Amino acid sequence: MFRHTKAVLEKLRHVRLKCRQLPRRQRSTAAKEEALHYNAGQQIHGFTVKEVVAVPDLFLTAVKLTHDKTGAQYLHAARDDPNNLFSVQFRTTPMDSTGVPHILEHTVLCGSKKYPCRDPFFKMLNRSLSTFMNAFTASDYTMYPFSTQNEKDFQNLLSVYLDAVFFPCLREQDFWQEGWRLENENPTDASSPLVFKGVVFNEMKGVFSDNESVYGQHLQNKLYPDHTYSVVSGGEPLAIPDLTWEQLKQFHATHYHPSNARFFTYGDLPLEQHLKQIDVEALSKFDRIDPNTQVPSQPHWTSPRDDHVTCSPDPMAPDQSRQNTLCVSYMLGDITDTFEAFTLSLLSSLMTSGPNAPFYKALIEPKIGTDFSSVVGYDGSTKEASFSIGLQGMAEADSEKVKNIIHQTISDIIAKGFEDERIEALLHKLEIQMKHQSTNFGLSLASYIASLWNHDGDPVELLQINNSVTKFRQALKENPRFLQDKVQHYFKENTHRLTLSMSPDDSYLENQARAEKDKLQEKISALSDGDKKEIYEKGLQLLDAQSKTQDASCLPALKVSDIAPTIPITPVLMSSAEGVPVQFCEQPTNGLVYFRAMCSLNTLPEDLKLYVPLFCSVVTKMGCGSLDYRQQAQQMEMRTGGMSVSPQVISDCSSLDMFEQGVLLSSSCLDRNVPHMFQLWQDIFNSPHFDDEERLRVLVMMSAQELSNGISYSGHMYAVTRASRHLTPAGDLHESFDGMEQVRFMKRIAEMSDLTQVIRMLPRIKKHILNPDNMRCAINATPQQVSESATHVESFMKDVAAKRKHFKAVRPNIIQRPLDVLSDSGPSRKLVNDPDFHPCYMKTFFQLPFPVNFVSESVRTVPYNHEHYASLCVLARMMTAKFLHGEIREKGGAYGGGAKMGGGVFSFYSYRDPNSVQTLSAFRRGVEWAKSGQFSQQDIDEAKLSIFSSVDSPVAPSSKGLSVFLSGLTDEMKQHHRERLFAVTHENILDAAERYLCAGHKTCGVAILGPENDAIKKDPSWVVK
Ligand SMILES: [Zn+2]
Repeated sequence: MFRHTKAVLEKLRHVRLKCRQLPRRQRSTAAKEEALHYNAGQQIHGFTVKEVVAVPDLFLTAVKLTHDKTGAQYLHAARDDPNNLFSVQFRTTPMDSTGVPHILEHTVLCGSKKYPCRDPFFKMLNRSLSTFMNAFTASDYTMYPFSTQNEKDFQNLLSVYLDAVFFPCLREQDFWQEGWRLENENPTDASSPLVFKGVVFNEMKGVFSDNESVYGQHLQNKLYPDHTYSVVSGGEPLAIPDLTWEQLKQFHATHYHPSNARFFTYGDLPLEQHLKQIDVEALSKFDRIDPNTQVPSQPHWTSPRDDHVTCSPDPMAPDQSRQNTLCVSYMLGDITDTFEAFTLSLLSSLMTSGPNAPFYKALIEPKIGTDFSSVVGYDGSTKEASFSIGLQGMAEADSEKVKNIIHQTISDIIAKGFEDERIEALLHKLEIQMKHQSTNFGLSLASYIASLWNHDGDPVELLQINNSVTKFRQALKENPRFLQDKVQHYFKENTHRLTLSMSPDDSYLENQARAEKDKLQEKISALSDGDKKEIYEKGLQLLDAQSKTQDASCLPALKVSDIAPTIPITPVLMSSAEGVPVQFCEQPTNGLVYFRAMCSLNTLPEDLKLYVPLFCSVVTKMGCGSLDYRQQAQQMEMRTGGMSVSPQVISDCSSLDMFEQGVLLSSSCLDRNVPHMFQLWQDIFNSPHFDDEERLRVLVMMSAQELSNGISYSGHMYAVTRASRHLTPAGDLHESFDGMEQVRFMKRIAEMSDLTQVIRMLPRIKKHILNPDNMRCAINATPQQVSESATHVESFMKDVAAKRKHFKAVRPNIIQRPLDVLSDSGPSRKLVNDPDFHPCYMKTFFQLPFPVNFVSESVRTVPYNHEHYASLCVLARMMTAKFLHGEIREKGGAYGGGAKMGGGVFSFYSYRDPNSVQTLSAFRRGVEWAKSGQFSQQDIDEAKLSIFSSVDSPVAPSSKGLSVFLSGLTDEMKQHHRERLFAVTHENILDAAERYLCAGHKTCGVAILGPENDAIKKDPSWVVK
């Protein structure tokens, strides 16, 4: 995977805490106390302890060590969290754009000395209960993290990861498959034309099909032009074919060495065990080298620079005449200065984030562009940080205007500074982020410290966030112009700044295609007939290797018997307030209260349905009660951890023709702010503001832009949603809310010159949705806070109940179902039932300006409670691992592909796929493969393990009890499903494939998003959009 830069505050958002949740396993309950017993200077298994620091704000103890023989660095964060994490990162600093670190990242996962089978990484996904496994290539490091709650599993995965990175096979064949190769288009036909293939080659074509990525890449390359940041670490598609296998092996030898490695472990497992295994299995086999991978400081420019790049036009853009991007980027100080980096990232938020920020007021509200440029604010992912500010979706003619506004706004900030209240709101936000308990805290920490540590900064200092907060408050007290002085220094007086503009070019894709063709021609013309013959033979060899059943028995594995037979019960308490059902779930939420409310859409007239997502995205952002939208945003930041509303389409567990439609309100706050949070909801219910057309236009432009930008990332989801559209009644609504239909609808709204018609819809929708007659609530809080919160829900309901209105449901068939199926007398939910629904077959093609496809075929099957559901889940997972992955990724060259079950629909999909209709035949062959029954008990067990690793993935205290609240899915039903999963046999899977997926029996839909496609155009069975 190739990871783009992310701002530090962005990362901070993911630094969330979590406490013990699965008390099933008995282990020392005080990992962080035990770790305090280590002493600096102490020697453990080849390592020396350098420093032991308690970090009470994050409930952890940090232990810093160095490996004596190799100099490898090590950080352990001991914390009473069973979701243990390991990560190793190497400083990888390429000097060309061949993508060598990225291709290496892929290739080391293709087999190693101790585990020589093909693709051990993907195989471990099915032999482990990992909660996370991945690898990332950033601009200047490559990271390999995994997490798991199981001790044995941790040791297994550690062994595979260590062997992969330090002792990979790096076979030539792996390099061809993952990197690039010349091959006959049809490998079995020597006369078919030679083309470029390779996983990374196609992945990077996919990445750069997205204009935001193109822009972000150029910006970094041009702002730091003198060393490693001037090249594309992920690989420039046309530079990739310049890389040789020899160069790849050389890069590994110099960069993947313990002397260039940083190890991070996290969680409640004992540190000594990790150290021993890492020393014995890897580090003891190396000597120290000088890796010489440091990134030198970028020399500071003496005068600002300007540059321009082009991109492909975006037919989904909200306004075709405005597709330019312009931003000004400033190089800031070294990220290893922790406090300076902290100050600058806070400063960046004050300048850009939310409707009260000066740049929001100056750039977004005048509607010169649709949104901020894709790169905006502070970015601490390079050795010297940067700050960027600008717009996308603007007209070329406005360029000078935008530059002037940016410079003027900086001068204004220096003159006026920031209101104290905004600074407080931001620090409050930070406090909430630190208190919120998440399920992937270890991973968040690993990414949070990665960049600073990579440049030899002190990661422990970075974890002591409260020290920085204290120092920040002190600095402000001593110098009220503290922040203004920073703006003066880093922005006004900074000559190292780049103004980069980007405009669409109608011939962009054509030029790219031509350049690829030229490159291909250049390679082919250098080939002799003998070379060509060899290419053909190598192609056949690769195909043969990919088609062989592989022996993975060398790999360690958990067994199905290692999986806990039962799930822990989450008790919830039902009560009611003014006749509205309220569910309480007592959880260790660390001083936060989480509120949710589900409001039904059953009475909403059909003509308003398409507007629901828009309504949700604006209802908390336009002002309410006595607050205008700026004051409302300020209050939300000061008093809550955020308030949001989202549309919901929830399939019923028992019938495919039933579903619930609604919107979900969610918010959180510190215990002390519960009354304020409910006051805000009360104002939104009683007197939301909808009449500010200018404000609405800003919000509409931003969401239309966001939807349009999201297609190239989530194209497979759009394809699956579209393919499922005509299979169930829920699928149809899902497409309206989250599918291509919604993208196009928002584009139309964004193009309207007059929004008064839309403004008239909003209060009508509000009347139906924010109505106590149709809602239920849920609270997650600590036991002490539950009764306190109950009082506030009660008074909130009392107040809004006065507005209670009774409307008739729009559809005739509404069925009432108890929330808890075992208690008929309890609260219920109202489902839409459509017993006359006729699923129909439809093939849809969306032509989009991407060089890659997203392909899906979906099949109507059975709901969650059906006896065959578990077999279909196992079938989907097994078919993905044992067949589709090989066909679609390895042979087909797509970035990914597989099958999944969800909402009663079995969906095949591919991601960033060079093929289109050919992939549909791979799906069909997958079914044939399943029907042939040529899979073993081992294959079935692996699929089960892989399913349970997601079924049993940790749930945050804020989200416990939500599945029964939202879908009526009780612990008993989950346990029942669990038992069915355990029981699935070879015969069950054959039966499920035969019964549901075979041509003739199945009811399916197909959708493809991709570039112009002649075969589809000529075929009248396709609907082309
Ligand atoms: Zn990748």
